[in-house]
Amino acid sequence: MCGVFGVSKAPDAARICFLGLFALQHRGQESAGITAVTEHGELVTRRGEGLVAEVFKPETLVALTGGAAMGHVRYSTAGGASEANVQPLTARIGGHPVALAHNGNIVNADDLRGELEDAGTILHGTADTEIVLHLMARSRQADFKARFREAMARIEGAFSGLVLTREQLLGYVDPFGYRPLVLGQLDGGGWILASETCALDLVGARFVRDVRPGELVSIDLSTQAVTSCEPEHRAAGAQTTHPQRARCVFEHIYFARPDSRLWGMSSLVKRSELGEALAREAPAEADLVMAIPDSGVPIAMGYAKASGLPYRMGLIRNHYVGRTFIEPAQITRNFRVKLKLNPVREIVSGQRLVVVDDSIVRGTTSKRIIEVLREAGAREVHVRVGSPQVRFPCFYGIDTPKRRELLAQAMDLEGMRDYLGADSLAFLSTESLTRVMNEGLDGEATACSQWCTACFDGCYQDPYAKRALGRDEPTKKSPG
Ligand code: 5GP
Ligand code: SF4
Ligand code: MG
Repeated sequence: MCGVFGVSKAPDAARICFLGLFALQHRGQESAGITAVTEHGELVTRRGEGLVAEVFKPETLVALTGGAAMGHVRYSTAGGASEANVQPLTARIGGHPVALAHNGNIVNADDLRGELEDAGTILHGTADTEIVLHLMARSRQADFKARFREAMARIEGAFSGLVLTREQLLGYVDPFGYRPLVLGQLDGGGWILASETCALDLVGARFVRDVRPGELVSIDLSTQAVTSCEPEHRAAGAQTTHPQRARCVFEHIYFARPDSRLWGMSSLVKRSELGEALAREAPAEADLVMAIPDSGVPIAMGYAKASGLPYRMGLIRNHYVGRTFIEPAQITRNFRVKLKLNPVREIVSGQRLVVVDDSIVRGTTSKRIIEVLREAGAREVHVRVGSPQVRFPCFYGIDTPKRRELLAQAMDLEGMRDYLGADSLAFLSTESLTRVMNEGLDGEATACSQWCTACFDGCYQDPYAKRALGRDEPTKKSPG
């Protein structure tokens, strides 16, 4: 999971891009990069490890002149966190500069990597993204767009991304539509392509539409004309077209910012509705509802609304915990949790709490938080989770662990309750999740196949993920 942002025309394109990436920071904190097209038709790139505001100081942005730019924030999944994998990736193909910013995983990357290496290609980094550039370079097509279409027809997986050349800005989404990408427009006529609508809001752009599954949008930088290739574009040699959709349901549950609209639906409204459904399915005898901030907040508010119980802020989050925090030698067992989340004794002491989170993966966060709440005097802790049990790994660009590390794989519901130290534990059912998510879907269809729910039910859409799952056999083992 990463974030991408591109702008086709603006007086200060790199600065707009910086703001767009800043709004998408939640999608990746490992590295950030911007490529701009200068007045002389050259592509200039600045990128580095760290947060957007750490990588782009005013003096760095000055170098990025020109009317079009695009950028990337990285969350390392495939390829790990190495400097060679910091995006946008740049290359010269047929003597012309090109930059690529990619969000997601290419599930057939190993096959393609082997094929490229057999043909003598020297791969520089370990990220999937580089493969796309090499496929483009090897294409015999005349122009970039055709080269890119050919490369896109070879790659399988869950992704969206941007390509920038001196003539055009391209945006693409995989054929299942796992990852979001939106098209927006600035008052001055320039176009924006961004992972989420919260980035359009910050730069003052109007939402135009979602980029459709399998679609390749192309914006001409000189005329600003937008053209689109529909899913059928898959070039000769690609065997499959994908009539079904597999939007990542976790984008709505957790990854996206709640103020974004994804696939025509407000993420905040959906999270609140999931909480309401959870309250109806799994009520609790309690005094108050509270969230594990920040991700559990909209779900907890929905739970409170439907249950009639008051919503209280029982945990306060410190937003300034950096990745490089050095722990003092003397630390208590729950130091790491308290660093980020501190209970409010006046709220929780003596109370029966409903504690709501969006998801449980390894269970380590919730276990520690429950301990901290008990230390603060909580009388009962009823854990309610706004998504079903995560039983399967994700092969589509999210860093969920191997099957044996997932709490719901290692134990049954009662075992999990006991391990977490909760008085009761309940997860949202898959049926309720699908029903809530299908309500208000952009009119296309309301079948389950509209959503990827593979980390809950193991129903992967492609043979690569099915094969990978076969290699990742579960073992009964208590997580640490
Ligand atoms: P765990 O159960 O592993 O301790 O962590 C679950 C918590 O981590 C949830 O509160 C969720 O908000 C957060 N989280 C962080 N990264 C991810 C991710 O990649 N997937 C999911 N489902 N939750 C994540
Ligand atoms: Fe999203 Fe889960 Fe599907 Fe991965 S497996 S794409 S996290 S719904
Ligand atoms: Mg969370």
